[in-house]
Amino acid sequence: MKKIDTHSHFFPHISQAQAAKLDAEKAPWLHVENSGETGQIMKGSDPFRPVYRALWDPQLRLEEMDRHGIDLQIVCATPIMFGYEFPATKTAAWSEQMNDLALEHCAADPTRLKALAQVPLQDIELACKEASRAKASGHLGVQIGSHLGARDMDDEHLVQFLIHCANENIPILAHPWDMMTDGRMKKWMLPWLVAMPAETQLSILSLILSGAFERIPASLKLCFAHGGGSFAFLLGRVDNAWECRDIVRQDCPQRPSSYTNRFYVDSAVFDTGALRLLTDVMGTDRVMLGSDYPFPLGEQNIGKLVAESPWLSDPDKQRISAGNALDFFSIEA
Ligand SMILES: [Zn+2]
Repeated sequence: MKKIDTHSHFFPHISQAQAAKLDAEKAPWLHVENSGETGQIMKGSDPFRPVYRALWDPQLRLEEMDRHGIDLQIVCATPIMFGYEFPATKTAAWSEQMNDLALEHCAADPTRLKALAQVPLQDIELACKEASRAKASGHLGVQIGSHLGARDMDDEHLVQFLIHCANENIPILAHPWDMMTDGRMKKWMLPWLVAMPAETQLSILSLILSGAFERIPASLKLCFAHGGGSFAFLLGRVDNAWECRDIVRQDCPQRPSSYTNRFYVDSAVFDTGALRLLTDVMGTDRVMLGSDYPFPLGEQNIGKLVAESPWLSDPDKQRISAGNALDFFSIEA
């Protein structure tokens, strides 16, 4: 069975001095420890996350892909690289640099590694320009954050970006980042466990309940990471609210669950019951294998969950493991 992993991250070997061109205090860079095997993503002078060599070394990535039986892996920025909080022209130059480094990473084996670009989303014109440039330079599509500060995905500016990508056939992976916290979720990785799935659900619901999907061309290829976060499990609650409260219906002409044919999700849900619910809600044609490699919160044996889900037929497994991604990213088999 072919396997395409649609959700994985890289972080290039950038120095503190290079990062300082974006922002000396807050831009991310990579500190590699003496062994060369492990390191830290740094934010200014503070450690942000411990990481290991597969994040920046494509040779190790390819070796691990062999171990997992992955035919093709799609690589995108680690969300801390987005730079949405900095001046747009600086982030535009940074994005171009990161996107070129992503292609360099994938050049280790361009038949097995493909990249998604990042864009300076805080400026619609620059974001559209970089998305188109990146697509022309070899990126399969773009990855964007699931929100832009206080603005959710239904923000007019973000909707314009989605329409641009629909018109130019640029597929989008929407990834949660900058999680909602008010200081109550500091411990035990709670921002990743509670707020991250909620961010994704918020993003999806903002597009549905605002009526944005009515204006965005149906040709848009949009995928949400982590199985769409809390969305699938709580969709019944949303439909009920739409039925029973006019303020939920006011901008959304169709039942919320009818919009599940407007986007995709990845399979990173870690539990057979959760994957079953997800494929029931979204359909097996809307779920794509995605691991979140090479992070500890990713699927540790990539593709095992899909392969070992007994209710999925072999053609469904093949669709989720590779076929849907071939269509979504317009990749020739
Ligand atoms: Zn991820």
